[in-house]
Amino acid sequence: MTSTRASTNWGGNLTYRASGLERPASLDALRRAVTSHKQVAALGTRHSFSTIADTGGTHIALDAMPARVEIDSARNIARVPAGLTYAQVAVALDAAGFALANLASLPHISVGGAVQTGTHGSGVRNASLAAAVTGMEIVRADGDTETVTDSGDLDAHRVALGALGIVTSVDLAVQPRYEVAQHVHVRLPWDAAQGHFDAIMGAAYSVSMFTRFLPEAVLSVWTKCRTDEDRALVPLERLGARPADGPVHPVPGGDPLAVTAQGGVPGPWHERLPHFRSSFTPSAGAEIQCEYLLPAERAVEAVEALRAVADLLAPVLYTAEIRRVAGETAWLAPNQGRDSVAFHFTFHRDAARVAEVLPVLDGALSDFSARPHWGKVSAMSGERLRRVYPRLTDFASLAKRVDPTGRFRTPFLRDALGF
Ligand SMILES: Cc1cc2nc3c(=O)[nH]c(=O)nc-3n(C[C@H](O)[C@H](O)[C@H](O)COP(=O)(O)OP(=O)(O)OC[C@H]3O[C@@H](n4cnc5c(N)ncnc54)[C@H](O)[C@@H]3O)c2cc1C
Repeated sequence: MTSTRASTNWGGNLTYRASGLERPASLDALRRAVTSHKQVAALGTRHSFSTIADTGGTHIALDAMPARVEIDSARNIARVPAGLTYAQVAVALDAAGFALANLASLPHISVGGAVQTGTHGSGVRNASLAAAVTGMEIVRADGDTETVTDSGDLDAHRVALGALGIVTSVDLAVQPRYEVAQHVHVRLPWDAAQGHFDAIMGAAYSVSMFTRFLPEAVLSVWTKCRTDEDRALVPLERLGARPADGPVHPVPGGDPLAVTAQGGVPGPWHERLPHFRSSFTPSAGAEIQCEYLLPAERAVEAVEALRAVADLLAPVLYTAEIRRVAGETAWLAPNQGRDSVAFHFTFHRDAARVAEVLPVLDGALSDFSARPHWGKVSAMSGERLRRVYPRLTDFASLAKRVDPTGRFRTPFLRDALGF
């Protein structure tokens, strides 16, 4: 076990206040690390932009824990150490002939961190990455280890913001490996994007639109098609878009080598579902992200509301992404109880100017019962969070029960949970 300090998050917009970093290499060492500090927080790969992973106490990272992925092929379940990244997990699963249902835009993030924040990819039938969790092992505040498998308990634990304990492993639903072909079309006129929104977003296994919400058009549409599915593609060319004539990076000016293969070339699920290759820096790097999820049926109205404030966002916006996420039952998933549309924003790493535009976004989406992504920044107060996340108060009671002394209680949690 070493003890140094993780100074900043991946995006560099946040300097952690934690005074130390523990890296236990065994379950016993992890349990000791939890109980030997008054305040602790699990640290994944530091890809959150909000202060969710920060603590005034000690960080505990799981990257030195045993890294074995165990697959129960009869049950289609893989037991995965929570400190592994999706890139590591995907390689192990694929080699054994298995796959996950979906991945986020990047595979660099830890399973524990992604699941705890409700991280998602896209797809009308794909819920968040946490929806694949069928069980978990967790170290509680008193150092005891518990296994959570009951479906009601899992709904409280899947997306739990690090508040209920340190997850050591998760059981993930897997399926036979499959291939995906990724096509990118550019410059889809707004009339077509809005007029055929549901058809476009539902026309492939996973679809993303990249835009700056300016009048210029939707900059690109990414369709990821499973080769074992027979879904009719929406004829984007007839709607006015054209196939990209080379690899497209979501961030204008970004390195095209960093993106997964496009041009309709079939390849393994884990090398097409994320936008970014695991061996390259994803996205822009020096950036700040924000994202809201709201009911899917209000997508086009929300697009209109965002187009109305595009000029205010433009000076600080690299790009925005529109995705679909299927509804799920996890209490704190941003898509809990409703099929959702997700509006993601990648801003320049200019904290002061981003702070000025966050209330603009918040205001534009305030009529849509929009829920912010836990790992990204937003201007929403704790009081408003509790209004848009209906199970947050129940969750606060549970957090108090399993962690009565507040060992996992961070400033972020105090604000969100209201204690
Ligand atoms: C370039 C980039 C692209 C992104 N793309 C997407 C995307 O496509 N979709 C999306 O939804 N999000 C996306 N995100 C956001 C990202 O997925 C989330 O912020 C996610 O939480 C990051 O995981 P992490 O391992 O870095 O977690 P961290 O930021 O390190 O931690 C996040 C939270 O999880 C808790 N935690 C971590 N590990 C454990 C554990 N083992 N047990 C209990 N709690 C734990 C922490 O305490 C903290 O509360 C992106 C972020 C970046 C930087």
